[in-house]
Amino acid sequence: MPKGICRKGNSDEGSPPAKVMAIVAHPDDAEFACGATVARWAQMGSEVRYLVCTSGNKGSKDPQMTPHRLAEIREKEQMAAAKVLGVKEVTFLRKSDGELEAHLAFRAEVAMLIRHFQPNTVITHDPWRLYQIHPDHRATGLTVIDAIVAARDHLFFPEFLAIGLQAHITSQILLFSSDNPDFFVDISDTISLKLRALARHQSQVGRIADWKERVGKWAAASGEKAGLPMAEAFKRIPLS
Ligand SMILES: [Zn+2]
Repeated sequence: MPKGICRKGNSDEGSPPAKVMAIVAHPDDAEFACGATVARWAQMGSEVRYLVCTSGNKGSKDPQMTPHRLAEIREKEQMAAAKVLGVKEVTFLRKSDGELEAHLAFRAEVAMLIRHFQPNTVITHDPWRLYQIHPDHRATGLTVIDAIVAARDHLFFPEFLAIGLQAHITSQILLFSSDNPDFFVDISDTISLKLRALARHQSQVGRIADWKERVGKWAAASGEKAGLPMAEAFKRIPLS
């Protein structure tokens, strides 16, 4: 088992995933939830991509801010943060913040991009987290899981075959912010990169005086569950 990766209750282990997609609702979700894991795997040779479903155009308390200007700011922040972590590519779906719904058209868009990018590992929101109040986090988690199934079986969205998008099997899903984590990544070596990446989201972390301390506490609390100094925690769903 490579140092630092712990699958509680699951002793089998391989190399870091070759291709990873983090599919999230908002700019900054990936950095908060899995930024240090992304940095670690990118350093180890994984090809990591982000699919960001909205551009976070409602994430401001500034009465002078407009959704359009905020989306521009937050996309730039997301690109800068992704660069710090070694992410290869960021795709924005540019849906409206706060209005995501788990419907078939959204599923088709995500399934199409999964078939296109062919990830082994998809990281996303746990849609079944108890009392998860953000509609975008629920809708994104559910849609991504449904899209992984649709991407896998060729009879889903048969029009994709006509444009050369063959069925693709994702090997595992890692759900973050889960009530039942069972997959822990040691982030001792990459938490500093996570903090540097989060600092790029100035429009968001600039409003929270103690954000670095909070991130450190979350990492320590997740690590404690797995006997690691600091960790990011996920619920793992193996698919192959
Ligand atoms: Zn979010």
